[in-house]
Amino acid sequence: MSTQGPSIHDTGALFQIAEPEERRAPARAPGRGIGIDLGTTNSLVALAPHGDDPKVLADGEGRALLPSVVSYVGDRVIVGDAAQAQQEEAPGQVVSSVKRFMGRGLSDVDFTHPYHLVAPSQGAGVLRLDVGAEGEPHLVTPVEVSAEILRVLRLRAEDALGGPIDGAVITVPAYFDDAQRQATRDAGRIAGLNVYRLLAEPTAAALAYGLDRGGQGLFAVYDLGGGTFDVSVLRLHDGVFQVLATGGDSALGGDDLDRALAAHLLGRAGFDETRPPTRHQRELARIAARAAKEALSEQGEVRVSVAACGIDDLAVTRATFEELIEPLVQRTIRACRAALRDAGVRARELDGVVLVGGSTRVPRVRAAVEETFGRPPLTDIDPDKVVAYGAAIQADILSGSAREGVTLLDVVPLSLGIETMGGIVEKLIPRNATIPIAARQVFTNYSEQQTGMQIHVVQGERELASDCRSLARFELRGIPRLPPSMARVEITFQLDADALLTVTARELMTGVRQSVEVKPTYGLSEEEVDRLVMESYDHASDDYAARNLAEARVELGRVALAVRTALAEVGHLTAILPAEERASIEAALVSADALMREASEAEAVNAARVEIERRSEPFARRRMERALLAGMEGKSLHEIESVLAAEEEHLDERRGGHSAEVIDG
Ligand code: ADP
Ligand code: MG
Repeated sequence: MSTQGPSIHDTGALFQIAEPEERRAPARAPGRGIGIDLGTTNSLVALAPHGDDPKVLADGEGRALLPSVVSYVGDRVIVGDAAQAQQEEAPGQVVSSVKRFMGRGLSDVDFTHPYHLVAPSQGAGVLRLDVGAEGEPHLVTPVEVSAEILRVLRLRAEDALGGPIDGAVITVPAYFDDAQRQATRDAGRIAGLNVYRLLAEPTAAALAYGLDRGGQGLFAVYDLGGGTFDVSVLRLHDGVFQVLATGGDSALGGDDLDRALAAHLLGRAGFDETRPPTRHQRELARIAARAAKEALSEQGEVRVSVAACGIDDLAVTRATFEELIEPLVQRTIRACRAALRDAGVRARELDGVVLVGGSTRVPRVRAAVEETFGRPPLTDIDPDKVVAYGAAIQADILSGSAREGVTLLDVVPLSLGIETMGGIVEKLIPRNATIPIAARQVFTNYSEQQTGMQIHVVQGERELASDCRSLARFELRGIPRLPPSMARVEITFQLDADALLTVTARELMTGVRQSVEVKPTYGLSEEEVDRLVMESYDHASDDYAARNLAEARVELGRVALAVRTALAEVGHLTAILPAEERASIEAALVSADALMREASEAEAVNAARVEIERRSEPFARRRMERALLAGMEGKSLHEIESVLAAEEEHLDERRGGHSAEVIDG
């Protein structure tokens, strides 16, 4: 035994990554799993029972797309087209694009919206929307709003199946973090769904095209929806889809195409700054523009009339529309190039490009994608439905149907770790590891006084905890008093198939155990994820130096503390510590204190530690010999020494010089 053992984590070899679980819980009802695309603009539910081809379920009027709009006007909640119809008269009471709020805190909401947001009272907690009428507050969480949409889709599926469903796969954007995923999963539970798992939207799209069949490949997924644009580069390797890069623009979609065309229509009707349209006119022009845009995907020219704006049978050609939207199209193309660059992939290496989202029906968009990726994109499957199809196929597999297909695995978007002494992050699960995954590492105590261990779970790529996102804190109490480095606390991170994290800490000697499900109060924005990843590259060398210095300081602090404690307890016993040795150790401690305050380089700090160790080594050895001689191995050093100190006062003659074995380790 030695007080100079390694401190923070005992040995790197204890860090192990378990193999992904073989399979999820056994299925109960083959063929009764459903797939849900919970979109920002539109949501869908699909079925693919018993290995059948997937089909999207429509409502009573044959509409497959359910607008993701929830109305709280009156005392009955309405979802879909009927809710959308009420939006203009009561914008604050009709919620659309609620997906943008999922798993977010107030500070994450940096986009415009018509809602009255209510921030949680004590900082942390879920944000709420006040959807009540004037003077009658009615608070709802984004999770509850999403649950209303999911409930309608669940009922639709139960109708189609003629009975209860077994479970659902719900899709989420690839960049959704823990908080956003957790919020989505919670919404599913509130809607009465057994959520088998969450699935990344691009992965679902690839699955719908059967791109998993070959087991290998490199794909891009271009998803232009109503209000968002996402591009992902995926690698399929041995049946595992890995998201290599995601990019896009969270404020670019079909709505922007509508606005561009509406502005053009109003301009041609004679509106300008000196004669601006009213809000109502603008809204009507936007609705007409949307219809015109969709028609222009099929035909070369449309005629538009909006009486309230004085627009009468105005001809708009596809060429005019294409000119108007070109800057928007180019923005998506730039994001595609960036994603390819991030993934380290050239366009020609791709095995396929998948189109997703209603706005990819625009012919100019298709052409631009084809030019950029140097090949015609895959368009056989309706781009509105492709994500729901993939989810349905995955749900069918998870319900236990005998269907060929890989069990899909996702990857962790950002590394997960814990803060150790000195604010250093010890990463347990690295970014891009496939999930589900479990990782385990053993940590030791810093001082004998320590009977509790603060466990701070963080997510991010940087080396210092203060630069990462804090996910949770908890304390493991009841650690026995043991000499430094002797208590062994095993920390386990368990990340399930939905990227939800459970952290368990266990003291190995006593079995004391504490576990938390990490439920962050709100999550990272897509941009923040991107920024954090970029920052880790930018700061790689700074971080390395900072980490080294922090580690060196921790080591020095630990050694100095151990020596000081020993001095305080038995330093006065000259049998163990001659006066001149004591003076020399104390001098080394004083200069160490100065270095702790001022040093900016790890080398100097390490040198000071080595010096203290060197000077105190004979003292440490004598203490240890005493302990062994006294035959008190079962006791803590502290107990032994208090007994010895008492004896020492009387038995002055029995001292030093014995050759007991010192185990160094
Ligand atoms: P989200 O993924 O955001 O829920 P969707 O994929 O459902 O969105 O896309 C909705 C968008 O697709 C809307 O802006 C809609 O106008 C547009 N869209 C739907 N059909 C067409 C079409 N035929 N031509 C052009 N745009 C279309
Ligand atoms: Mg979508």
